[in-house]
Amino acid sequence: MVAALLKRLGVAEQAHSRGDHPVHTPIDGSRIASVELAGEAQTTAAIDHAQRAFEAWRDVPAPRRGELVRLFGEVLRRHKADLGELVSVEAGKITQEGLGEVQEMIDICDFAVGLSRQLYGLTIASERPGHHMRETWHPLGVVGVISAFNFPVAVWAWNTTLALVAGNAVVWKPSEKTPLTALACQALFEQALKAFGEAPAGLAQVVIGGREAGEALVDDARVALVSATGSTRMGREVGPRVAARFGRSILELGGNNAMILAPSADLDLAVRGILFSAVGTAGQRCTTLRRLIVHRSVKGEVLTRLKAAYAKVRIGDPRQDNLVGPLIDRQAFEAMQGALAQARDEGGEVFGGARQLAEQYPNAYYVAPAIVEMPAQSAVVRHETFAPILYVLAYDDFEEALRLNNEVPQGLSSCIFTTDLREAERFQSASGSDCGIANVNIGTSGAEIGGAFGGEKETGGGRESGSDAWKGYMRRQTNTVNYSRELPLAQGIVFD
Ligand code: NAD
Repeated sequence: MVAALLKRLGVAEQAHSRGDHPVHTPIDGSRIASVELAGEAQTTAAIDHAQRAFEAWRDVPAPRRGELVRLFGEVLRRHKADLGELVSVEAGKITQEGLGEVQEMIDICDFAVGLSRQLYGLTIASERPGHHMRETWHPLGVVGVISAFNFPVAVWAWNTTLALVAGNAVVWKPSEKTPLTALACQALFEQALKAFGEAPAGLAQVVIGGREAGEALVDDARVALVSATGSTRMGREVGPRVAARFGRSILELGGNNAMILAPSADLDLAVRGILFSAVGTAGQRCTTLRRLIVHRSVKGEVLTRLKAAYAKVRIGDPRQDNLVGPLIDRQAFEAMQGALAQARDEGGEVFGGARQLAEQYPNAYYVAPAIVEMPAQSAVVRHETFAPILYVLAYDDFEEALRLNNEVPQGLSSCIFTTDLREAERFQSASGSDCGIANVNIGTSGAEIGGAFGGEKETGGGRESGSDAWKGYMRRQTNTVNYSRELPLAQGIVFD
């Protein structure tokens, strides 16, 4: 079944049937392929190739570069169902979420095509007569993309489409847990290259590898930008190494996202928002709702409704009519059980969280999403456990709720459910939420591509996707032109 799917997506058989790195599906834990892992030498060779491609591609007019991305968007539209299914098979996402991830790729292609005609600079008033100043944006170089297992295709597309219209070449190292979707993306991209006809070889490459390949990208001075998505642990290693060689990095790391649920909120809306954000993707989104900060006066009612909704959530094969698929692997399951035990030790009251369907799938890890009432924002709550655990904290006073929202090391996504305008605006003000994303009456997950995506503090500070995130993929140049017959100096300096 997987072989047929990969064939339809254009992946050559030898790419997924040789090598000694096994690929398992989290759906039942069975082995579905084996791939070869590249080491440092192969990664360095890919960077050599990309550097040559960059030197040709940077001179191609940006709207023409956009045409390649437009063609890629068309290829993706044609293969949306197959690629979405492969995301489900390899990452365990339910069908709707697998398709949604591919739609996100299509959306960012459209965005990047428009952008290819809008890489605007500035004109600046010069203080000197007969001079003009401007600011222009130029291609940066080779962009290294390191991605996580939980968004195996969209994160690459966010980076690559912008990098390509910006005039860069890309080398991608996907998660070693999801190499098949990466091979499929590369095969689809090659279809677009073929239709385009004249792109330099090596413009966008994939290197299937583990940490060693990632480190080769991180340490190579020719990789002008490393865009790395994954855990804060990974970012702590990657960030300083790229900085040590004065490279640029975009870090998209762990989140610990909260919702403030105020007494005035529309509770029907809030419960639906919580369910999608906390339980969706089996709690394995960087933007998953992990902390519910609920006003004490509505806490009882909200918990009753939530527990009823959680009890009805269908758990099982993500390709069937279920809402919660499997955790990625045994390690993720053990991390979840460890966090629940720690939460109990810290005074938490746990609802749900047990393993499901173990008899049917002895080698896969399905869990009932957990709700944990906590007496305080203790150590376990401040840590990102990449699993469906929702910690619930009560508050009495809005300032206290804001403080709890901000009092964690991570700063990715946040939201408030309220109908009180003052609270909503305060939440989004300078002294409100300290996160990169702050929503009102919408959950923490499910961002659109039009906005800049990323977070503060231990989330790494990077921005990707929409708005002016493209500037991170280009170099800025300030130009001053003298069209006079004099040589006046700035600041009125006389140097005769
Ligand atoms: P991970 O950190 O284990 O791995 C991510 C990637 O980094 C993989 O490709 C891995 O091979 C690579 N890597 C690990 N150590 C490296 C090193 N020293 N040098 C170079 N590369 C290295 O993360 P994961 O388990 O795949 O993904 C889950 C994590 O990713 C969660 O913490 C989640 O919040 C985060 N995430 C963040 C965002 C975001 O946009 N902020 C998006 C998706 C996932």
